[in-house]
Amino acid sequence: MNNIKSEKIYSEAVKYIPGGVNSPVRAFKSVGLNPIFIDKAHGSKIYDVDGNEYIDYICSWGPLILGHSNEDVLKGVEDALRKGTSYGVPTQIEVEVAKLIVQAYPSVEMVRMVNSGTEATMSALRVARAYTKRSKILKFEGCYHGHSDSLLVKSGSGALTYGVPTSPGVPEDVVKDTLVCPYNDLKSVEDIFKKQGSDIAAVILEPVAANMGVVAPKKEFLEGLRRITKEYGSILIFDEVITGFRLAFGGAQEYYNIEPDMTCFGKIIGGGLPVGAYGGKREIMNMVSPIGPVYQAGTLSGNPLAMYMGHRMLTILKNNREIYNDLEIKAEKLEKGIMDNLSKLGIAGTVNRVGSLVCMFLGEGPVDNYDDVKRCDVENFNIYFKELLQRGILVAPTQFEAMFLSTAHTDDDIEYTIKSNYEALKIAFN
Ligand code: PLP
Repeated sequence: MNNIKSEKIYSEAVKYIPGGVNSPVRAFKSVGLNPIFIDKAHGSKIYDVDGNEYIDYICSWGPLILGHSNEDVLKGVEDALRKGTSYGVPTQIEVEVAKLIVQAYPSVEMVRMVNSGTEATMSALRVARAYTKRSKILKFEGCYHGHSDSLLVKSGSGALTYGVPTSPGVPEDVVKDTLVCPYNDLKSVEDIFKKQGSDIAAVILEPVAANMGVVAPKKEFLEGLRRITKEYGSILIFDEVITGFRLAFGGAQEYYNIEPDMTCFGKIIGGGLPVGAYGGKREIMNMVSPIGPVYQAGTLSGNPLAMYMGHRMLTILKNNREIYNDLEIKAEKLEKGIMDNLSKLGIAGTVNRVGSLVCMFLGEGPVDNYDDVKRCDVENFNIYFKELLQRGILVAPTQFEAMFLSTAHTDDDIEYTIKSNYEALKIAFN
């Protein structure tokens, strides 16, 4: 595999951009490589500047549920572009996208568009704090909600302690109200609520944790969170930035039949352009400026091009619900293929999958929380990753991310991936 052009661009990139990338996960540092630079992508395939072709399981980290440069999603986008790229004054298409979201999510009666998932979760928390007139929030270890200060927190020495900043630059004061519990551990949530429940404004979680690999929620965990937050008058926020419109048209809340008070969106709802949104019960969203006192704004929020692409994407999903069944079948085939490979090769490992989110963990399962995830075998994964790349398969350069399936992935893609997975594992564990 020739990487000459990518290497050349990378040597320039590091001079001008920290680490040569605009988001850390794009660097291949964790697997000891330099990143490949992309020229174009179509369907399930992505092509780097050296002309190498890969079956892509990153899929822009989630938005591209219909694959790259999908013709149906792109239809009419040139006309939309020529009409203007941003006005700073409202457009009808924003209303249409909001309507599609509200109709798909019974728990969402009003929704506000923003530019990223980070903005969505940050803003939802501000509204929840204002609505409840409380300061503390509870998040879960291993869940990622973007990079706003108060959410960049992992668990400290125990679930009942105050959070400690994950990143330098986040003042202790900013995170002193962020509490952290282990994922899937209802008992620790009960304990923390017993002590501090009347101060907790909101509980925020990924209803399927998809930023520590993929970790499914136990049904009783989600049900318990709904019950406890109701009992204490806290707001339950589902961060559906990944799961929204992916697990089902109505997201994880439809999939698990649990209604949160607020929901955050991103990724799929922009059809591949920058976007985010947060919404919830009317009474809560009435807090948002200009009807309420909570300030939240954005120069490019509800950008007409992002809304155009999002509207096309959501409309296609709405009118073709069989897509979710199709994804389920493909993802199950991939899951089973990898599980069989692990077992044939006698390698300790497991595959966690919820819908079209798939993740292979190397190490003893089950993997139900961040502590389980941390025990995984990173060194052999790095060899595995390189071997897959050599075979024309692009997965996230870390074990702790999902493989994102799209409708563009063909049966041949899946079969080739399973075969390559076997070969790469065999070499990694040789
Ligand atoms: N929430 C979840 C669940 C995410 O996966 C992400 C990003 O991957 C975010 C929030 C942040 O979204 P963004 O990267 O658009 O700021």
